[in-house]
Amino acid sequence: MAEKIWQVEKIKYCEHVGEEVFIENEVVLPAEFLPDQPPRVLARRCSHGIECNMMEQPACSLCGTNPDLDLV
Ligand code: SF4
Repeated sequence: MAEKIWQVEKIKYCEHVGEEVFIENEVVLPAEFLPDQPPRVLARRCSHGIECNMMEQPACSLCGTNPDLDLV
């Protein structure tokens, strides 16, 4: 059975919040009977997206509030 999980893609320093953040991908891992199929990325997010949205300065596209950005 396929499994949907969040995986950390990278850790980077963000100047907007002044600390390290995790950039994460939501992926669907293939079922066991389809081992050659690569994982599918459904969405991306930042671990500090909520804190980022509470600040007055504009954030990057990973904050999750940009209606023009299709995360799927
Ligand atoms: S969402 Fe905010 S905290 Fe996360 S990387 Fe973008 S600007 Fe930095």
